[in-house]
Amino acid sequence: MAYVISDACISCGACEPVCPVSAISEGETQYVIDPELCIDCGSCVDTCPQEAISEA
Ligand code: SF4
Ligand code: SF4
Repeated sequence: MAYVISDACISCGACEPVCPVSAISEGETQYVIDPELCIDCGSCVDTCPQEAISEA
């Protein structure tokens, strides 16, 4: 199970540098988490001002 970013994302970019495995990147319309890379550490969750990141 990987973490996912909902459509509440405003593309602020705050979560990207927090990820230890660089699983977060800017997608077409919002930031996205690569499920192949995410190790479920949960570090990105509290950085999001929109509470857009949650466990899938
Ligand atoms: Fe990266 Fe951890 Fe967030 Fe997964 S849960 S995207 S590994 S910071
Ligand atoms: Fe989107 Fe939240 Fe990441 Fe900002 S911190 S880019 S709002 S998911």
